[in-house]
Amino acid sequence: MIKAVKGTRDILPPSSGVWNRVEAVAREVFRTYNYQEIRTPILEDTALFTRGVGEDTDIVGKEMYTFEDRDGSSLTLRPEATASVMRAYIEHRLDQKPGLQKLYYIGPMFRRERPQKGRYRQFFQIGAEAIGSDSPAVDAEVIEMVLEVLKRAGLTGFKLLLNSVGDANCRPAYVAALKERLQEVAPGMCADCRRRAETNPLRVLDCKVPQDQPIIDALPSIHDHLCDPCKQHFEAVTAYLRDRNIDFEIRPRMVRGLDYYMRTTFEIVHGALGAQNSVLGGGRYDGLAESLGSRVHSPGIGFSIGEDRLVMSVEQEHPDAHHPALDLYIAPMGAEAERVAASIAYDLRSSGASVELGLDGKLKRSLELANKLAARFCLILGDDELAAGQFQLKNMTSGEQEMVTRESLPARLNSR
Ligand SMILES: [Zn+2]
Ligand SMILES: [Zn+2]
Repeated sequence: MIKAVKGTRDILPPSSGVWNRVEAVAREVFRTYNYQEIRTPILEDTALFTRGVGEDTDIVGKEMYTFEDRDGSSLTLRPEATASVMRAYIEHRLDQKPGLQKLYYIGPMFRRERPQKGRYRQFFQIGAEAIGSDSPAVDAEVIEMVLEVLKRAGLTGFKLLLNSVGDANCRPAYVAALKERLQEVAPGMCADCRRRAETNPLRVLDCKVPQDQPIIDALPSIHDHLCDPCKQHFEAVTAYLRDRNIDFEIRPRMVRGLDYYMRTTFEIVHGALGAQNSVLGGGRYDGLAESLGSRVHSPGIGFSIGEDRLVMSVEQEHPDAHHPALDLYIAPMGAEAERVAASIAYDLRSSGASVELGLDGKLKRSLELANKLAARFCLILGDDELAAGQFQLKNMTSGEQEMVTRESLPARLNSR
């Protein structure tokens, strides 16, 4: 028997309904902030990620699905979308368009991670990018927007973690201080940390090995090394957030796993997921365009929500989220009733109601099915009802039954 590839999965109803609602909420929030959708290919030139995301990141070093195409070129299934959005921005000269480019995406990404709860090798991200400004006001607006998505998706009890990772001006001095300190402490750390202490000391801060955490907490803080413009940027972002009454926690050692981040980085964590509790991450990437070969300075900031984990959190907080919105189940009994039922169903569906049209059958089984489908109402059509021009409408929640005419039916369905 052929099964889904390890680390991938089918998203089935009723869970797919939660996915649809989460995506609808995100699209609606993005619309109100004047973001528009961008759809980039799932396949990209491998160099996009080695240059954009960084050679020594876990993503590029260990997790990419890279293969040689028939013409010998190296292709990769996108492990994230920011590099793709920036590639499209450069390729189509979107910097020439008026104002900020505010783009969002929803789609699958691919990373060959060790499968574990809430993590998949094909996973989905909902993300947005605001490209064309280095103003801290944009950082604050992006953060406000993503919090709005989470709130409207029904999530509560999440926490915003904030940091600055400096820029090309001040980060080198911090990295040097980090490297110096690591020469003393790295021998007691994990193999990845020992290697990265030499190759890319910032990545040591991303280590998730529990024994290394106390050592990492005692490493130098970037906040002691930020240059004045970076310091001012960070202070402005926090001031804008306070203006909006947005709570946050500063995490000086949160650098996030991608090379392109600079200045503002943020993460939102949610309790329902235990240790693997990051629902989304984001940050500023003012040098990404240049690292992809653009001569136009195109500062930007964005985030990506792990949709799999967001849906899991929503399902945990709202066990009733799975109920499909079925307004009416029609139970016809007899051939003539089936014909009338089809015509009633058509009218109701045209006016926007969701209707399941049952097949000719016994009343008891029809009511059982209506119940299992979580229909709000069940309409019963037998010979007597057809002759009288009145039908029995059963409220499946209260159990109440009443007689309705075909004309009065839509109004009854609309009343809650
Ligand atoms: Zn480590
Ligand atoms: Zn700086």
